[in-house]
Amino acid sequence: FYDSQRTQLLTASQVGLLYFYRTLIMKELVFASNNAHKVREIREMLGDQYRILSLADIGFVQDIAETADTLEGNALLKARTIHDFCGKDVFADDTGLEVYALNMEPGVYSARYAGMQKNDSDNMSLLLQKMEQLGDRSARFRTAIALIMQGKSFLFEGIVEGRIAQQASGSGGFGYDPIFIPENENLSFAEMSADEKNRMSHRGRALQKLRDFLQ
Ligand code: IMP
Repeated sequence: FYDSQRTQLLTASQVGLLYFYRTLIMKELVFASNNAHKVREIREMLGDQYRILSLADIGFVQDIAETADTLEGNALLKARTIHDFCGKDVFADDTGLEVYALNMEPGVYSARYAGMQKNDSDNMSLLLQKMEQLGDRSARFRTAIALIMQGKSFLFEGIVEGRIAQQASGSGGFGYDPIFIPENENLSFAEMSADEKNRMSHRGRALQKLRDFLQ
């Protein structure tokens, strides 16, 4: 490794130390989630500017009841709970699938559409069943991100429009991915690679807005 100012080669351990000091002086930002997949995704997007801490990193172990009736409300509720707990800058997200012909159902209830004990497959079956007689299959995924920074609250939104397929296809992703086909595409989210999905996804778009704001 080459340090141009001191014109000398750095050893691997010196480089390690530099990274360690850089981490110490980086600003911290808590992401109010313990979902390992999401935490990794966030670190990939924001990790060059912020030291991203998960709930486990700050020692928060309780569940936060998502009792608000909007995505924004739930994202703010999670962010405020964690800000009150640790006093640090924090952000939280909440996502829902919104079907136009069903009055934007399942929306904020996406995770528990078929009931608290049910799973992704039950949720998809219920949705497909409710849509059997409907001509309009247009839908969208929407993510709300709430940021609390220096005591002030900010909201960011990411949307991907698309439609609900007649049946599930593909094995990638999670949630409603097998029945959601984004606009201008023929494949469901579950048939795409993670990179392909992230490039156009609701969460990716909301995160990009957060990233622009932080920059
Ligand atoms: P969360 O707010 O990210 O936990 O999302 C709530 C629910 O929305 C999840 O349990 C999934 O059912 C659904 N969901 C969120 N994001 C996605 C996605 O990217 N693809 C498919 N379903 C999703």
